[in-house]
Amino acid sequence: TPHDLDDDVALVTGASSGIGRATAKTLADAGAAVAVTARRTDRIEALAEEIESEGGEALAITADVTETDDVERMIERTREELGGLDILVNNAGVMLLAPVIRADLDDLQQMLDVNLMGLMAATRKALPGMLEQDSGHIVNISSVAGRRANEASGGYSATKFGVNAFSESLRKETADSGVRVTVIEPGAVDTELGQHIPDEQVMERMAEMVQDMTVLQPEDIAAAIRYAVTQPPRVSVNELLVRPTDQQ
Ligand code: NDP
Repeated sequence: TPHDLDDDVALVTGASSGIGRATAKTLADAGAAVAVTARRTDRIEALAEEIESEGGEALAITADVTETDDVERMIERTREELGGLDILVNNAGVMLLAPVIRADLDDLQQMLDVNLMGLMAATRKALPGMLEQDSGHIVNISSVAGRRANEASGGYSATKFGVNAFSESLRKETADSGVRVTVIEPGAVDTELGQHIPDEQVMERMAEMVQDMTVLQPEDIAAAIRYAVTQPPRVSVNELLVRPTDQQ
């Protein structure tokens, strides 16, 4: 049904572009009140206004997921200002690809801090309230790179394999509590993600690979997330791997 999340509050990290932005809009469309968070305040404020102008409810909260205070504040403010937290979409991520021999240690650290530590910190902060209400849904955005490692992706893949491991462990811990955990593993999606690749050779190779494909749109992944979070309570969608049809 079109409004199956009418009673739910969602928080989406990395909502200023790409998959996070599309997910926030899709969940709002389904009736959820949505906290949209990222570092770029102008973008999330514009998104919140857009959602509100389409009849939805949204709250923009500036937050860097590598800052513990920001993570705590975004979850507290969501609970206080939107009245709860039922769905946490840990989507914020960076993909700073380079072969190990040319990898910058700061880039490797940043990927760990955003893709893995940020996701674990937000989950840690959101979980007690979900356990208390005997329901909740944590959606973690992994990647095809969370299932198999390619060259020049070691650091990125390490974070996404980490996301999968953390999520599966959490799923077991919360199985008896009504809290659900879903891992989403997108293939190539048309977003800003590839624009920050620091290594020129890798950037070019990725651009060529993507040119030969009909890549996914952010809305395609948002639809997968919507599917996972709108199932009846007995159904736990553990893992969704969604590739472009013509991706190898
Ligand atoms: P985008 O670059 O379009 O979006 C990334 C988002 O993460 C932005 O909103 C950005 O917001 C946010 N972000 C980055 N660093 C931080 C930070 N320190 N704190 C808070 N937010 C941060 O890329 P995608 O939409 O593609 O990426 C979303 C997720 O999807 C990522 O986890 C990515 O790994 C995953 N993914 C993407 C694929 C693809 O092909 N595009 C394939 C598989 C997985 P801001 O800069 O404003 O903080």
